[in-house]
Amino acid sequence: MELYNKTAHELHELLQTKQISAAELTADIFSRVDEVEDKIGAYLEITREKAFSDAKAVDEKISRGEKIFPLEGIPCAVKDNICTKGIKTTCASKILENFIPPYDATAYKKLSAQNPILIGKANLDEFAMGGSTENSGFHVTRNPHDLERVPGGSSGGSAAAVAAREAIFALGSDTGGSIRQPASFCGVVGMKPTYGRVSRYGLVAYASSLDQIGPITRDVTDCAQVLNAIAGRDEMDSTSTAADVPDFTKSLVADVKGLKIGLPKEYFVKGIDSEVETAVRNAAKKFESLGAEISEISLPHTDYAISTYYLIAPAEAATNLERYDGVSYGARVDGADVVEMMTNTRTEKFGAEVKRRIMIGNYALSAGYYDAYYLKALKVRTLIQKDFVDAFKNVDLILAPTAPTAAFKIGEMVSDPLKMYLQDVCTVPLNLAGLPGISIPCGVTKNNLPIGFQLIGKALDEATILRAAFTYEQC
Ligand code: GLN
Repeated sequence: MELYNKTAHELHELLQTKQISAAELTADIFSRVDEVEDKIGAYLEITREKAFSDAKAVDEKISRGEKIFPLEGIPCAVKDNICTKGIKTTCASKILENFIPPYDATAYKKLSAQNPILIGKANLDEFAMGGSTENSGFHVTRNPHDLERVPGGSSGGSAAAVAAREAIFALGSDTGGSIRQPASFCGVVGMKPTYGRVSRYGLVAYASSLDQIGPITRDVTDCAQVLNAIAGRDEMDSTSTAADVPDFTKSLVADVKGLKIGLPKEYFVKGIDSEVETAVRNAAKKFESLGAEISEISLPHTDYAISTYYLIAPAEAATNLERYDGVSYGARVDGADVVEMMTNTRTEKFGAEVKRRIMIGNYALSAGYYDAYYLKALKVRTLIQKDFVDAFKNVDLILAPTAPTAAFKIGEMVSDPLKMYLQDVCTVPLNLAGLPGISIPCGVTKNNLPIGFQLIGKALDEATILRAAFTYEQC
């Protein structure tokens, strides 16, 4: 019946009105997984048995005539750096190859309260460090639009699963673009909420001041539904915000009249692919024709965002990853004494990119260099935040490319980390500033590769982002 082509909100209607059963839907998704997963490699672990038994419980609820939650019975994928109680959570790292968390991440727990159907844990760059999913310690994930190309990253498994219809929606995490960039490469919707909007408790830490969990979906309505499910204050994460969580589906109003949208000139400079630039500028024109006021704005410190991010993120990563010492978690490689055991474990089990970040981070934090690198980066971070504060005095939203290019070829950039880092130019500023952003599909290149644009909002103003994104999508 190809139910897998539908959105969560469409499937919800079909389930609630008993036109389909959750068991049928689950079987349909698995038939799709069986058909394409060998080629795509979106998942690290598939939870088939649990899925069918959960679907049965949903069907029992429906047959009792009870009302179901918006995401109840809807098949989903969860990035494998989000802890799932009793289900392996590896972060795509050999060091956590056999780690089974004794608790759920809050975001997953909140989602689970709606009884979606977990299809599996999705692949990622090891510890979410990367932008192509090629850094997974287990296997690469392929872009469903072109199997020779990357799905983006680090939430490449989540985005590919949704794009390949191996899940209806997914959870990803975004530290420097890892939800938005793979969403853009795979032609789906991906949102990084405001820092603190979604609890990070149980999200395996990469860079704690930047990390945020968010939805990857087929459309904006599903994005709002998933955000509704996962947002909110959590006592287990002191950085989660106590701000009210509005019902985000109320923002799904097709109207942008009078909305002020700024185009930051620094995001349309050298390195941006001309097809991407044209598609993004056309999206801006579309908004204008729908009644929005478009103006050019400046975010003057954009140029420093990559260097700032690639000091702060590795510094935090180096600290966060100290805990993988062969004792507390996961894998151990023996040695003559404890130091040798730790060295052997970390040498053998961490991948090259993770080691690179640990070295950069420890260097930036070391006594002689702390002021010159880490402290300097923190100061520039404040300037980048201030750019946005100033810009938002005059506009309601900022529109920019999500990534400078469409999906690149597998193997094209892995050997040149700097080139790979430069891909994050449009996404990392939001993380540094803690702001929400969404990536929305806006066309394809002549090779039929998806292009995405980004809408950036004020802190805690996901509602305006969703309204504009919904308007664009409807038109
Ligand atoms: N590509 C960026 C990095 O490698 C972003 C990763 C992320 O958002 N998790 O750090």
